[in-house]
Order: sequence, then C-alpha cells, then structure tokens
Amino acid sequence: MTAIWLSLAAVVLLSCDAAPGATPSNADYAGARARLLAELRAGGIRDARVLSAIERVPRHELVRAEDLRFAYDNRPLPIGGGQTISQPTVVAMMTELLELDGSERVLEIGTGSGYQAAVLSLLAKEVYSVELLPELATKAKGSLQRLGYDNVQVRAGDGFFGWPEAAPFDAIIVTAAAPRVPEKLVAQLAEGGTLVMPRGEGGEETLIRLRKRAGKLETERIAAVAFVPMRGAILTPTPGR
Ligand code: SAH
Repeated sequence: MTAIWLSLAAVVLLSCDAAPGATPSNADYAGARARLLAELRAGGIRDARVLSAIERVPRHELVRAEDLRFAYDNRPLPIGGGQTISQPTVVAMMTELLELDGSERVLEIGTGSGYQAAVLSLLAKEVYSVELLPELATKAKGSLQRLGYDNVQVRAGDGFFGWPEAAPFDAIIVTAAAPRVPEKLVAQLAEGGTLVMPRGEGGEETLIRLRKRAGKLETERIAAVAFVPMRGAILTPTPGR
C-alpha cells in the first residue's frame, strides 16, 4: 500500500513539473511583468520611457515554449544557436544609456530574439538590426512583424560591417561582446551620436558608452557585465596589432 501511495505521489509531482500550465494565463504574465518592473526600478532604472517600453514588450512571445514560465524573470534565457535573449536589466540599462527621444535612427548588432529591437522600436523612429545567424534573423524578423513592430528592419549578416546603406545612425547598440569597438560602426555613427556596447572578452566585459562630439570620441566606462561574444570578422586579427 505504501509503495502505491509513493508512486502515485511521484506521478503527481512529475506531472506538476512537466505541465506547469505550459501556457500560463495573461493574468500570470501581468503579475510577472509587474514584479519585473519593480525589480528594474529597485535596480536603479529610472527612465520612465524605458520602463514603459519594457512593460509593453511581450517577452513571452520571444522566448522558447519551454521557457514560457520564466519569460519575465530578470535573467537571460536560451534562444537556440547557443545564444540568449538578454537579461531585462541589461536591456533597460543599455537602452537608458542611449537617451533616445523618439527621433533617432538606431542600429543594433546582434538581433537574437528581437527583444532589444522591440524595446528600441518603441523609443526611436527607426531600428535597423543585424544578426549573424540566419536562422535567428529569420525568426526574429517573423516575431517582430507578427507583433507589429513595423519600424524595425532585420537582416542576416556580420554586424562588424554595420549597415552602410542606412548610415549614419544617431545611436548604435552592440549586444555581443567584442575586444574592441568595430571601426566601421564608429564610422557609421552620426556626429553627436552615441554607441553602447560591452567591450572585453572571456565573460569579463565592461559596458561602455562612446559619444562622437565635434569629430572626437569620448568613452565612458559604465559597469562590469557578461555577454555572449561577438563572432565573425571581429575575430580576424587586424594587421599590425
Ligand atoms: N539583443 C538580443 C540578444 C543578443 S545575444 C535580444 O534582445 O534577444 C547576441 C547576439 O549577437 C546573438 O544572437 C549572436 O548570434 C549575435 N552576434 C554575434 N556576433 C555577431 C556579429 N558579428 N554580427 C551580428 N550579430 C552577431
């Protein structure tokens, strides 16, 4: 008798684990979103426009089905191809650093799931986003279209080269870490523009903000962060280095 009860209990536990309402209700998301917003505020995110954009973007539409119940957790989640959807705090911090007023043309390197691009689309005029992995680019493009973010353009390619036909950009955000700022991105940054990226390698990166003022570059170090590495041409050593 005891054995039967034990195995029944095991079945119940297993089914709770496997099921957790694979599709949580909207009401569940509302609570989770409110908690995330509270966490971002407590973590020092002050810009009301950024907070409102994060509140509006349905992160649950951009994560894998098996991660739905974690969709509003303040952490990165896997999206396939060894890549991740960024942590909301990091998205908020980087977006805040761009100080967008709604008039800008923004370039993002590293579309991933499209989450950061969706947040940017609510705060800028036009968003151009480049993703190295074609399957992620296709998926993100589809998600962004389906969700109605029609001021975002996504293309597959190596973001090291930027998006020259659409340059100059008022803001550039790189969401993968690189040991140096790709020169072509600096060249595609408009006068008065701002570039934000994690600089460094090996999981020890510094978030930097670079501003182009009167043709000169000003660099600020903001915070220690950990990012997935940028790949592609950035890894080819520059002659003379
Ligand atoms: N911004 C994304 C998360 C980015 S993770 C989001 O909100 O979901 C970093 C992404 O950068 C990955 O998708 C990775 O494939 C991409 N990436 C890496 N190197 C790249 C390069 N050279 N050009 C464009 N994308 C790159």
